[in-house]
Amino acid sequence: MTTATIAPSPAAPVGDAANVRPAAPHLNFNQIANEQFQAAADHMKLDREIQLLLRTPYRELIVQIPVRMDNGSLELFHGFRVQHNAVRGPYKGGIRYHHKVDLNEVRSLAALMTWKTALVDVPFGGAKGGITCDPTNMSRKELQSLTRGFAQKIDMALGVYRDIPAPDVGTNAQVMAWIMDEYGKKHGYTPAIVTGKPVNLGGSLGRDEATGRGVMIITREACKAFGMDIKNARVAIQGFGNVGSWAARLISNLGAKIVAVSDVKGGIYAEKGLDIEKVFTHLNSTGSVVDMPGTQDVTNEELLTLNVDVLIPAALGGAITEKNVDDVKAKLVVEAANSPVTPFADEKFRSKGIRIVPDILANAGGVTVSYFEWVQNLQQFNWDLDKVNHELELRMVKAWNAVHQRHTDEKIPLRMAAYAVALAKVAEASRQRF
Ligand code: GLU
Repeated sequence: MTTATIAPSPAAPVGDAANVRPAAPHLNFNQIANEQFQAAADHMKLDREIQLLLRTPYRELIVQIPVRMDNGSLELFHGFRVQHNAVRGPYKGGIRYHHKVDLNEVRSLAALMTWKTALVDVPFGGAKGGITCDPTNMSRKELQSLTRGFAQKIDMALGVYRDIPAPDVGTNAQVMAWIMDEYGKKHGYTPAIVTGKPVNLGGSLGRDEATGRGVMIITREACKAFGMDIKNARVAIQGFGNVGSWAARLISNLGAKIVAVSDVKGGIYAEKGLDIEKVFTHLNSTGSVVDMPGTQDVTNEELLTLNVDVLIPAALGGAITEKNVDDVKAKLVVEAANSPVTPFADEKFRSKGIRIVPDILANAGGVTVSYFEWVQNLQQFNWDLDKVNHELELRMVKAWNAVHQRHTDEKIPLRMAAYAVALAKVAEASRQRF
């Protein structure tokens, strides 16, 4: 029998940001998640037994998914579902389709979901799934077959009160519809088995825009708290997928100038601010934001270093590292993506007085409305859009206030404050169960 041990923690930091341990420049996503957890656990003097329970996932599934491709060949894909913790409720988290997905990344994202659901106080635990594939190079038929194959393979780990998937990078409402349909073949009509479904199939109004709306609410609150006027703020957003594009639209509605946005092909910049509706029109007709008339093309790298007040990385993890952190000029960084800032870059930012709103707070709007969708499915009673947006607003502002309070009271970074708020809830539920 092997016994898990935990290395003795350095003295718990008290006081300001300077006492967070120095971070190594090259960490993989799981090491990053562990680092962030450990810093908060040390600060809170979280007891050894709780740390033991929370450091590693509860269950990890790795499955093979054979798919007959359109050209007749058989391809083998690998899928993952990592269930990190469920002391506060069923496992909850998205499914990511991307060619760089691996177990390590999914593991780290599953842990982030545990902290995220606790932070916004929805009765879920944390999980994440993924398939190593390039969905941009697959036909609808191939994607459907891949998704149904995955749903069959992880079926035994799913359940309305066990584990509820949702969309993430590279997946969408259609993918959720296929999972629901596949699950239904065996278990009967079960809309609450996934969230982020098409509204027509039991999805919630407002779920599609929920993560972006949450980013807008948190950006607004952070600007207010740090004495920045959102109406005059210059904002750059890396990523124009579901999260980035909704955030751009909703933040520009507050009066801010979105001076740059980007997608995988590159970015665009306009000194006077972009007309976001026109960016959507251009994107819909050309398939990308680049080369939009009246704007200047910038690379994704250049976008991160523009002279702006607020930078919103809304693409993939690891966007700001030791390589480019010194070139970032924003005063506030809002992590709309998961893990876009490495611990090394995080520390650099703090030493320069740049504030970072952590992912587990900034992008928690998605899972919050997933909770509303699940509730509506279970009660078979649909909410109107105003109710969804109102409830989202209440929960996001409450979470922001709790994190900001702790940040101010304990003079700790926002990320550590967010972890501390979340960890306290998960730890309490663990103590009550064990
Ligand atoms: N994939 C989203 C996230 O990372 C949403 C998860 C969910 O709604 O369950 O937060």
